[in-house]
Amino acid sequence: MTGDDSGGLLLPWPDADGEPFWQYVRRGELRVQCCTDCGLRRFPPRPCCPRCHGFGTRWDLVSGRGRLWSFVVAHPPLLPAYAAQAPYPVALVELDDAPGIRLVGTLTPSVRRPDAPLDAVDTARLRIGAPVQVVYQKLAPGVTVPRWALTGSADRAAAGGRPG
Ligand SMILES: [Zn+2]
Repeated sequence: MTGDDSGGLLLPWPDADGEPFWQYVRRGELRVQCCTDCGLRRFPPRPCCPRCHGFGTRWDLVSGRGRLWSFVVAHPPLLPAYAAQAPYPVALVELDDAPGIRLVGTLTPSVRRPDAPLDAVDTARLRIGAPVQVVYQKLAPGVTVPRWALTGSADRAAAGGRPG
């Protein structure tokens, strides 16, 4: 997708292996591939298990809870659609129920604000290990992306006291 409907945002362009992930996200479900031969969960999606080399795959529903494993702060130069919101954090989140699987996404201060601006979280107050929960943002017609909402006591601090 190159997207006249995206407002200049970059949209996912799934391949055959990744398409189910994005279909589930559109339904509001976070699922990861799981090998039906040895039980290993894996991400990003791919046709073959890296442990046993089996091709049997199912998609396991996960809780969507995780921890901030790392983050970077994006600064210009950026594409125009992103530059107006910079600087903003981009998170690497490790899933609570699929340790070792880490997903990239942007942060939002609350589960009630899936559409919050990219800079709605104060990066100076982010802490590694902060609990997060997946939320879903409709980014363009037919395109939904997962984001990460700060939860628990860390969210109020990291949100910099902005209303949630
Ligand atoms: Zn396997």
